[in-house]
Amino acid sequence: MTDPARLDRLPIRIPPVDGESWLGYTHRVAAFYHLPWRTLMRHLILNDPHSLRYWHMPRLAGYAATTPTRETFAAFFRLEPSEVADMHLSRYHGSALDFPAQLTLALDPLSTETDPANASLGSIGRLVSVRKPRGCPDCLRGRPDHRPLSWHLTFHVACVHHGLLHVPLDRHTPIPADTNTIDAQALILQRLTPHPENRRFFTTLELILTARVAQGRPHRLNAKTTSLAEALPEVVPLAADPDPSIALSYALDTTNRLGHITLPRISTEPVDPRWIPPLLPTRHLIPHLADLLYPLPIRRAREVAACAARMSLTGESATAACSVLGQRPTTPAAIHHTLRRLQSQGRLGHFLDATGRASHALLGEQIDYPQRALHASRPDLIAVANQIVIVASGMAKSWLVDQWACTYTSSRERTTSRDGRLENYDREHGPAITAALETILNREAA
Ligand SMILES: [Zn+2]
Repeated sequence: MTDPARLDRLPIRIPPVDGESWLGYTHRVAAFYHLPWRTLMRHLILNDPHSLRYWHMPRLAGYAATTPTRETFAAFFRLEPSEVADMHLSRYHGSALDFPAQLTLALDPLSTETDPANASLGSIGRLVSVRKPRGCPDCLRGRPDHRPLSWHLTFHVACVHHGLLHVPLDRHTPIPADTNTIDAQALILQRLTPHPENRRFFTTLELILTARVAQGRPHRLNAKTTSLAEALPEVVPLAADPDPSIALSYALDTTNRLGHITLPRISTEPVDPRWIPPLLPTRHLIPHLADLLYPLPIRRAREVAACAARMSLTGESATAACSVLGQRPTTPAAIHHTLRRLQSQGRLGHFLDATGRASHALLGEQIDYPQRALHASRPDLIAVANQIVIVASGMAKSWLVDQWACTYTSSRERTTSRDGRLENYDREHGPAITAALETILNREAA
């Protein structure tokens, strides 16, 4: 071979094996050319000197790549861009995993625009294994250089062809798997085709596996293979049940740390965090959730409901959602308590439906709540509100903070909120004042 530093295309096409991972393929190619893997990968990204700064494993291990990157890689290896795509974990987008465009960009090996800190495994989800690779010893004996892509998935713990548990790749002792585990494993692997029903299956699987085996680590599912293998026959039927409250009920019974509870995710689209305020607007609480959250005081109910909305839109745990929203740290306990109460009343399904409706309402409105919070104390806007109401009731100031911007300022419940006056004010005057304020803010922004 000539000077490898100037290589821009490999001389020979080495066809990928069906189901092969990008990491496995590039190692196989490097071995073929008698090159260290790092040297080969360095050639691949040499065209772009900036990318060397971002020498970062997740980006080179084959999680996701943008279209231009796939084309660059395909040209270098003499592959089709679709063959490159099929070897990346983003192949499971829409089934086991979720790769929104932003995440693909963050994980792209040739991207120079994003900080590699964003490209953390945590953002892909708990269904990608963060441990050393494992696989079937019999499969490896038959094909020592083949690394299936699905071996990167947390829940792939047993080989359905050989009936063996996956073990570290350098260990060759076979451990037979239970037949129930093999049956459950086969059912999971059949669901890897992208489809909304399969996506729902895997989000539920993630929720209940986390509750069953995550052992207090909210971002990881690095339980022992044997614990996962043992859990599969129990959790697969629950994940396959179309009623999400069945899985949530199971998660409530098995989660040992209450702040780690998650809700079934209702959206796979990235959600703009600005659209979810620290307090759910009263207009969405009253029709959907007020009844289910009773006897919580209305202000506390709005807080719990906003946290639940964020959880169902992002898949975050109660602790994570509560912290992003800037709420008090006792909210996860309040959520857990509420879910337990609803579970005992047989109303978990109603709660999930109602939270879903409130969450979709927030998405539909796309209100920039942090921006409202910035303006909520402006005397001129308070004056506008008072002009509209005619009989100034002294409530405009509170209304702007509490009902318009939905900010969380303190844990104290306002007297006007406790006795319902603020809510009445909102019902009567809220829409008119909101319209007037929007006109002002739009004019200022123009
Ligand atoms: Zn095998």
